[in-house]
Amino acid sequence: MVRNIGIIAHIDAGKTTISERMLYYSGKLHRMGEVHDGTATMDWMVQERERGITIMAAATTFFWRDHQINLLDTPGHVDFTAEVERSLRVLDGAVGVFCGVGGVQAQSETVWHQASRYGVPRIAFVNKMDRVGAHFEKAVSHMRDRLASKFVCLQIPWGSEDSFRGVIDLVGMKAVSFDEKSCGQMLESLGIPPELAARAEQARAELVEAVAEKDEKTLEAYLQNPDVPADVLKAGIRRAVVGNELVPVLCGSALRNKGVQLLLDAVVDFLPSPMDVPVVEGRHPKTREVESREASDFEPLSGVVFKLVNDPYVGNMVMVRIYSGQLQKGQNVYNPRTKARERAMRLLELHADKRTEVETLFSGEMGGITGLKGFTTGDTICIENKPVEFGRMAFPEPVVEVAIEPKTQADREKLMNALNSLVTEDPTFKLKVSPDTGQTIIEGMGELHLEIIKDRLAREFKIEANSGTPMVAYHETVRGVGRAEYVFDREIGGRRQFAGVSIEVGPMSRAEGNTVEISVSAGVLPAEFRKAVEDGINDVLVTGVLANYPVTDIQVKVVGAQCDELSSSVVAFRSAAVMAMKEAMKSADPVFLEPIMLLEITVPTEHMGDVLNDLYSRSGKVTEIIAKGSIQVVTAMVPLAKVFGYATAVRSVSKGRAAYTMEPHCFEIVSDVVQKELLSK
Ligand code: GDP
Repeated sequence: MVRNIGIIAHIDAGKTTISERMLYYSGKLHRMGEVHDGTATMDWMVQERERGITIMAAATTFFWRDHQINLLDTPGHVDFTAEVERSLRVLDGAVGVFCGVGGVQAQSETVWHQASRYGVPRIAFVNKMDRVGAHFEKAVSHMRDRLASKFVCLQIPWGSEDSFRGVIDLVGMKAVSFDEKSCGQMLESLGIPPELAARAEQARAELVEAVAEKDEKTLEAYLQNPDVPADVLKAGIRRAVVGNELVPVLCGSALRNKGVQLLLDAVVDFLPSPMDVPVVEGRHPKTREVESREASDFEPLSGVVFKLVNDPYVGNMVMVRIYSGQLQKGQNVYNPRTKARERAMRLLELHADKRTEVETLFSGEMGGITGLKGFTTGDTICIENKPVEFGRMAFPEPVVEVAIEPKTQADREKLMNALNSLVTEDPTFKLKVSPDTGQTIIEGMGELHLEIIKDRLAREFKIEANSGTPMVAYHETVRGVGRAEYVFDREIGGRRQFAGVSIEVGPMSRAEGNTVEISVSAGVLPAEFRKAVEDGINDVLVTGVLANYPVTDIQVKVVGAQCDELSSSVVAFRSAAVMAMKEAMKSADPVFLEPIMLLEITVPTEHMGDVLNDLYSRSGKVTEIIAKGSIQVVTAMVPLAKVFGYATAVRSVSKGRAAYTMEPHCFEIVSDVVQKELLSK
C-alpha cells in the first residue's frame, strides 16, 4: 500500500523538522538531523542548507506500518509557488503544518487554497505546541476563520508550552505521552488525566458529530449510541477525508519529538492511497477523445512528469508520477507533446541525494527516469499504441528581471548553456535577450529566486556572473479594440513577394492570457500559410509594441487575407502578419501592466503608524488589519516597482521589529504617470 503525500506549510512552520522525524521513526535515518545545524537530509541543495529554506521538492520514500510513503518535500517560500503547484498535481494527500503560536500565515493560506483547487485531501498538524504562546484552540479557530475547510480535532494537547507532554487521542480516548530521553518513544495510558476528562469528553462529542454529519455509517452508529466505537469512527473519518469533506487536526512538537508517530498513523489511516484516487482523465492526442486510466498495474502506462532534476551523480533525470500501468527499465515511452519515442534507461527511487535503482515503477509510484531528453515539466508519459495526454499545469508569470553577464568573456557560451538548462528545470524562470542592448536578461518570481539562480550558476556550473539591478517585468496589453490591414508587396532577390493580412485585437480580462483565432477560410488563406501568420502574431506577442515586454490578456482575430498564387510566400505572410498585428495593437490603446505584490506585515502596535505611512508612500493599498494582542497584522497590495529593497526599509521604520512576507498577486494596468515614465525611457 502506497501513500503519495507532501507537507505544505509556511516557511519556518517546521516542515523540514517533521520530515526528518518521520524518516527517523520509520527507521530510514539513524541520526536526527537538525535544521539549525544544517544537516537535514531533505534539504540537499547546498544553498538551501546555508539559507535554511527548502527549495527543490526533494522526494523520499520510507515505510510505516507496512505502507510505503512517498514524501515530496514541498517548498514554503512563495517565490517558488511553481514548485508547490507541480507537487500538488501529483500528490494524493497532504499534511498541512501550522504553527501553534502564529496559526495561519498568508503564505500557508495561498498554498492551502491551491491544494483545495487540486482537490487534495489533507490532515492538519499544529506544530510547536512547546513554544511560549502556543495555544491549540486559538490556532484551530484561526484556521477555521481563514481557510475554507471543515476542520475537526482528533486530539487535544496534554499540557502546553514548557509543560507540553503529549496528546489526548479522541478517537481511542487515551492519553499518549512521549519520552524525552529516548527521542520521543510513545507511552500510552488509558487513563485520561482527570483535569482533562471533561474537555476530552466534549471534544470527542464534537468530533463524532462532525463525522456523523458527513458520513452515513457513522451517523447510523451515532443514532444507536452516541459513544461511537473507535474503529467505526476511524473508518468514517477516512471516508470523509478521502472525499475531501473533513480535515482532521492533530498537534505536537516536532522539535521535542512529540506527536510525529501519531501523525504518521493518521497519514496511513486517513489519507488516500493511489487506488482511492478517482480515475484520471486525459485526451487522446490525435482524436482528442476523452481517455480514462484506472489506478491499476494492468492498465496501459500513463504518468506525469512533475520535475526535471540535474543530478550530480546520474545527470539529467525526469521525475514522474505513474498513474496507471508499469514502467520497466529500458522500456520505450511516448511523449504526446513532442510525438517522440524515447527509452527509459534507468529507473530510480529517490531518497534525497541517495538514489536506489529499481527494475519497475508501478502504478501509483513516483520515481526518477534517466535517458529522456525531450520531456519537460507537465508532460505526459505513456506508450505509443495507447496514448493519452493529461492537461498541463498552469504556472504564474515571472515578475522580476535582471540583466546578467559572465565575469569573463570566455564564459559567455557556458553561461548561456547553463541558463538554458535551468530554464528547462524551472517553468517560472525565463530567459531573454534585449533587442536594444543585446544583454541577456533572466526573469523570475522574486529577488530571492534570481539570487538563488546566481548561486546555482556559481556552484553547479562554476560560472561567476555579474548582474544588474533587479527590475520589474512589465507586460503589455490593450484597453480598446483595434483593427489593421497590411499588404506586403516587395521585390526580394529579383522575385516578387506578396501577402495581405487583416487583424483585429481586443482586450480580455486580467489573467486570461491570449487567444489567437484565424477566422478566414482555407480558400482565402491557404493552409500552407496559416502557420506563417500565427508565427508573425506570436513574434509580436513576445516583443510587444511599447517597450519590448510580452503581451498578455488580448484577443487576436485574423479577419482577412490576400493571397497570390504565384508570388505569395511564407516570408511574405509572416512579415504581413507582424506589421498588421503591430498596427492593430497600436490603434487599440496599448498600456503597460505591472505586477502587484501581496504583502503581509506583522508589526507591534507602536510601530504601526510608521509602517503604514511607509506603505502609503509606496502606493500601497491596505486591504486588512487584524489585531492579535499587541501585534497588528497588515495585509496590503503594493506595486512591485515600489517594494524593491523593502527588507531594509521595513527594518528601519519598525526598529527591526516588523516581519513580512511578500508574494506576486496579480497584474494591473499602470497609472498614467508610470505609463508616461516607461514610454519616455
Ligand atoms: P520549515 O522552514 O517549515 O522547513 O521549518 P524547519 O523545520 O526548518 O523549522 C523552522 C524552525 O523551527 C527551526 O529552527 C526548528 O528547529 C524550529 N522548530 C521546528 N519544529 C518545532 C517545534 O515543534 N517546536 C519548536 N519550539 N521549534 C520548532
